[in-house]
Amino acid sequence: MSCIQQVSRNFVRSGLKINPNLIRQSSTTPKPGVNFALNETQKEFQELARKFTREEIIPAAAELDRTGKYPFELLKKAWSLGLTNNHIPEEYGGMGMGVFDGCLIAEEFAYGCTGVKTALEASQLGQTPVLIAGNHEQKKKYLGRLIEEPLVAAYGVTEPGAGSDVNGIKTRAEKKGEEWILNGQKMWITNGGVANWYFVLARTNPDPKAPASKAFTGFIVERDWPGVTPGRKEINMGQRASDTRGITFEDVRIPKENVLLEEGQGFKIAMGTFDTTRPPVAAGATGLAQRCLDEATKYSLERKAFGVPICQHQAVAFILADMAIAVETARLAWMKSAWEVDNGIKNTLAASIAKCYASDVANKCASDAVQIFGGNGFNTEYPVEKLMRDAKIYQIYEGTSQIQRMIISRNILEKAKQSA
Ligand SMILES: Cc1cc2nc3c(=O)[nH]c(=O)nc-3n(C[C@H](O)[C@H](O)[C@H](O)COP(=O)(O)OP(=O)(O)OC[C@H]3O[C@@H](n4cnc5c(N)ncnc54)[C@H](O)[C@@H]3O)c2cc1C
Repeated sequence: MSCIQQVSRNFVRSGLKINPNLIRQSSTTPKPGVNFALNETQKEFQELARKFTREEIIPAAAELDRTGKYPFELLKKAWSLGLTNNHIPEEYGGMGMGVFDGCLIAEEFAYGCTGVKTALEASQLGQTPVLIAGNHEQKKKYLGRLIEEPLVAAYGVTEPGAGSDVNGIKTRAEKKGEEWILNGQKMWITNGGVANWYFVLARTNPDPKAPASKAFTGFIVERDWPGVTPGRKEINMGQRASDTRGITFEDVRIPKENVLLEEGQGFKIAMGTFDTTRPPVAAGATGLAQRCLDEATKYSLERKAFGVPICQHQAVAFILADMAIAVETARLAWMKSAWEVDNGIKNTLAASIAKCYASDVANKCASDAVQIFGGNGFNTEYPVEKLMRDAKIYQIYEGTSQIQRMIISRNILEKAKQSA
């Protein structure tokens, strides 16, 4: 029996699902057990994304940041290269790639500009509820559409009055015959003005005491339906190429075919989505942190103070060392959380650790990079002030850092109680 067959059998025996690409590797297949090697497919996609970032994203980033223009041209190019929607199953026209593979691309894009990365990747956030809970017809229609044309989706949960407290959302849908009537308002929806369709979470149980697990339903809502009105583009501190808006729903008629899973299952779908989408957010934060480290390293070799390059001052060199430690460990954190979800292991804890840690790392590295640049770091002519503005949102969207710490602490306390 070959080594590959042995690995494959071991995985099957352990009940884990494995990306077939990993099995397809020949002589380069690492020994079973933990390894940090990318397979050939992963290396190719990483290289392609890196090239796209260097040649397309980085040259456009400053202008997109200044104007806040949505990066349609970049979206079209990335789509045509197969750098978006890669996680959509082959059955619906995609490549069926895993979360880990998508994270490799996300980290590269984020290195170039996290505004562009969020603009391209937020579509995945909108798609994931359909991926995890959609039926065959829904997947064929709505995921297939994104493969046929360079269109994007969006995820509509947050409202003006409720973000962290999802249970507090007020958007309602009422059943009328064969359809649902949707009324309410969403806020801070990435891709809100450019998406072709949205995942929308609405309260469907009129009983205000109904538990969250039964009170909400998830719907697929098309942008062009009467009664759907995106608001103005919000002017944000950073990631300005990304399109963030409020959306109003006024007597929007949703056919019953657009209910995900079934009535009352929406909360579970909306929260379950994050197990898949937090690893790429963490990978994005890692990409930003890596850019901070690279920019700061380069500058510290060129800038002189007291007759020597500033990197020769130990206080500066140690800042670089701490940044390198942080980048490396943030990368390991997203890798583990993505690997877990790809292998069918419940990854809620790992995803929250990765998202929380990488977000904090991105902010610390951005602040440290500005510090190493001195006065120049505070100026828009240099790249690091943008990195600092762009970093902040990582501690807020897809669950704030406080909410991640709540998830992490609950998880460890529950485990401790069980083993007591
Ligand atoms: C640029 C941008 C893009 C976004 N994209 C999307 C999107 O595509 N789709 C979508 O649905 N939403 C999106 N959001 C919304 C985002 O997820 C929320 O802003 C976030 O979840 C926080 O909610 P909030 O703003 O209502 O803050 P609040 O929930 O009001 O929180 C305010 C502060 O209180 C803290 N806090 C709240 N509750 C607790 C608690 N129990 N314990 C400790 N601290 C607590 C929070 O951590 C935070 O520091 C986006 C937001 C922004 C700014």
